[in-house]
Amino acid sequence: MKAAIYEGPGKMVVREQEKPSCKKGEVLIRVHACAICGTDVRIYRHGQKNVVPPHIIGHEIGGIVEALGPGVTGVEIGSHVVVVTSVGCGECKFCRRGWHNLCVKGVAIGYYYEGGFAQYMTVPEPAVMQGNIIPFSPELSFPEASIVEPLSCCINGQEYLAISTEDIVVIFGCGPIGCMHAELAKAKNAKKIIMVDVDKKRLEMAEKLSPDMIIDSSQHNPVEEIMSATAGEGADVIIVACGVNSVQEQAVSSAAKKGRISFFAGLPKDKPTITFDSNLIHYREISVFGAFASFAEQYREALDLIEKGRVDAAKLITHKFPLDNIVEAIGTAAGGEGLKVVMQPWR
Ligand SMILES: [Zn+2]
Ligand SMILES: [Zn+2]
Repeated sequence: MKAAIYEGPGKMVVREQEKPSCKKGEVLIRVHACAICGTDVRIYRHGQKNVVPPHIIGHEIGGIVEALGPGVTGVEIGSHVVVVTSVGCGECKFCRRGWHNLCVKGVAIGYYYEGGFAQYMTVPEPAVMQGNIIPFSPELSFPEASIVEPLSCCINGQEYLAISTEDIVVIFGCGPIGCMHAELAKAKNAKKIIMVDVDKKRLEMAEKLSPDMIIDSSQHNPVEEIMSATAGEGADVIIVACGVNSVQEQAVSSAAKKGRISFFAGLPKDKPTITFDSNLIHYREISVFGAFASFAEQYREALDLIEKGRVDAAKLITHKFPLDNIVEAIGTAAGGEGLKVVMQPWR
């Protein structure tokens, strides 16, 4: 099969290698689409401690079940499936509640296990047993299905925010994740959606999703703009979809009474602290939530939203590449001129 092998920071080679086997409890998937995540870009550029090269990365997968290892039940050959990234131990208190993304011994497909930037991949036994293979209707295309993973992460983030029709929602960061958050908030009929970014290209992209307002924070102070757009009250929901310290601080300053904030993106590991007026949290009853990855239930929700057309996955895909062009594709994803970039290993 053809596979893109990550050989260390800045090194990715596409070559023919043996198709993976399908041992006891495993499921072999023929990968038809695998979208590039921001973390794939970071692994390619800087490496990551739980990704040991040579390795196949990629976790935003849409494919077909090709073969079943001995003992596998509940998965059918030929079904079109997405694969849940997080694999938990199944025993810790988080796994017992279905929160495999928070498992104390958690690992992930496309990180610890090999992933989807190849024509075939095997889903490991613990993931199969945990129900990580989720079928979808063949009416949905594979590239659209590859959007289920990042959308499920956004669903995880928004679960805490309980967005209603009363809420003014501000999204900092107009990359693919910020745009997905906007689409989700729209699906919940938020009263008003405001999108903020410093990058002109990203703002132009966000504009196509027709938010109610766009703020170019390279030109304007976003806190002042948000305050004046909300009659001085602040935003009810603020999602920080960019890993920038000062933006997290701006989020706290622009929240309304009873405001809910999601720090959706991590900060640089060497500078993970911020400073803000804690009295705002106290007197305004502001809540700040984190969010990390997602679990199976949220994949089903994401699939349902996409299959019903409540989130238009096709609109979020701006580029598709064959596997041979993976380095170019990663550059495109990193460059910010597109939203989701999808690899198609059989093209
Ligand atoms: Zn992802
Ligand atoms: Zn666990």
